[in-house]
Amino acid sequence: MKSNAQKLDATLPLDSFIGGKWISHSKKIDVTNPVDGSTLAQVSCAGVEDCLSAVDAAQNAFASWKSTAPRARAEILRKSYELMIADQEKLARLITMENGKVLSDARAEVAYAAEFFRWFSEEAVRIDGDYRRAPGGANWLMVSRQPVGVALLATPWNFPAAMATRKIGPALAAGCTVVLKPASDTPLTALAIAEIMHRAGVPDGVVNVVVPNPSGPAVSAMLKSDKVRKLSFTGSTQVGAVLLAQAAEKIINCTMELGGNAPFVVFDDADIVSAIDGAMLAKMRNGGAACTAANRFFVHEKIYDAFADGLTARMSSLVLGNGLDATTTVGPLVSKSQQQRVAELVDSAKNAGAKIACGGSAATDGSFGYQPTVLTDVAFNAPILNEEIFGPVAPLVRFKDSDDILSHSNNVEHGLVSYVYTRDLGRGMRFAEALESGMVGLNRGLVSDPAAPFGGVKASGLGREGAHDGLLAFLETKYVAGNW
Ligand code: NAD
Repeated sequence: MKSNAQKLDATLPLDSFIGGKWISHSKKIDVTNPVDGSTLAQVSCAGVEDCLSAVDAAQNAFASWKSTAPRARAEILRKSYELMIADQEKLARLITMENGKVLSDARAEVAYAAEFFRWFSEEAVRIDGDYRRAPGGANWLMVSRQPVGVALLATPWNFPAAMATRKIGPALAAGCTVVLKPASDTPLTALAIAEIMHRAGVPDGVVNVVVPNPSGPAVSAMLKSDKVRKLSFTGSTQVGAVLLAQAAEKIINCTMELGGNAPFVVFDDADIVSAIDGAMLAKMRNGGAACTAANRFFVHEKIYDAFADGLTARMSSLVLGNGLDATTTVGPLVSKSQQQRVAELVDSAKNAGAKIACGGSAATDGSFGYQPTVLTDVAFNAPILNEEIFGPVAPLVRFKDSDDILSHSNNVEHGLVSYVYTRDLGRGMRFAEALESGMVGLNRGLVSDPAAPFGGVKASGLGREGAHDGLLAFLETKYVAGNW
């Protein structure tokens, strides 16, 4: 694949953003170009002390930000939205360069990410309360909402912009100040967003960004600092469980957006063309590296062959390459280790009897790419169905008994999102109700929307982001019992 290192903007911020200042550290982190493994940029690596000074900066800014008028907070978020949209192309190229996803996906991510600022600018002025007479009649019950406090936000590499704004937007709307810790694979976008927010007028210390590596000791120290009152984490279930245990020591309020393992169920009465369109969206958005990615395709035997042929044709027509090239429709994965993981999962499926309808191997040009792959004749108990693939691989399972498919769908530890295709809306709604997942796409391959509550059940997490729920996650309820 053609390298893209030379196209990085020389004015990009590469240092920690603490208390409104860019702070350089002598230790650096290499940001790797997924197209050829070369070093794209070096960012300042924040040590534990630097991370704690970011927490101090957030703490120092908290009292003033908390008492800033909701309308003023809203205006800054609105301005951040406008500046992000104005910089959409620049940010999209940056995302593609550090993450690998194709430019069209990166542009869509910037629009989606900016929308969290717009949505939460509108929510900032809608923080509700309650006032009523106690049922016994003796006193009054007054309920208001207060910002939780300093929030630590930790985000993954797969949506470097959207996972940051989905947390910063509601935190600032609620009156919290934040320390954002992006994934060290993709820190450039987070730093660029901090610069945008600085231009939008965010006061010093309200938004801080640090990139420690390794993450573990720095995140632990911040959680133990006695100043962090909220942890909002998006990432793997494994790391989420570790952080929940650490947060428990100080009883820190947690929102956890963790892994997924989405079933994609196609009943015999489904509109096959629309199911294939939905499958492409649910599987291939972000090259398969999405927590919402369809991971297990259960297709009724009556339409299995037509669905498999149609999906294979669409997957085979995708072009793997450098995400910046206009002809590319699938970019490389973010790292060599992700590429190896996907290769191992496909090999394990083959060993368990699956057939390769298309793809089935890693790119051979030195990039971290993996060919878009369809696996057919996958058995219900194949190990690949228990893992989050996080790559462009669609395992297809044939089913006969529609009554059984609910238990197969629910038979995993995760419960983030599920997809179901049927023309019978009664059946679709009954199935959606019974699915153990926080979200369901009914005849639709995309559920994400800043105005909708995003989140999972079981090992997929705790709490919701987006919608009004996303704002409530950064607010405490204060109740005053009054008598006069
Ligand atoms: P990850 O868990 O490895 O990392 C997430 C964040 O945690 C990163 O910032 C990372 O640096 C940090 N981290 C890693 N180890 C840590 C430790 N020991 N202590 C403290 N921090 C640590 O996840 P990832 O590989 O970056 O992202 C992929 C995962 O994220 C997938 O499982 C995916 O499903 C999940 N994800 C979930 C959602 C959602 O909304 N539910 C959205 C996107 C991604």
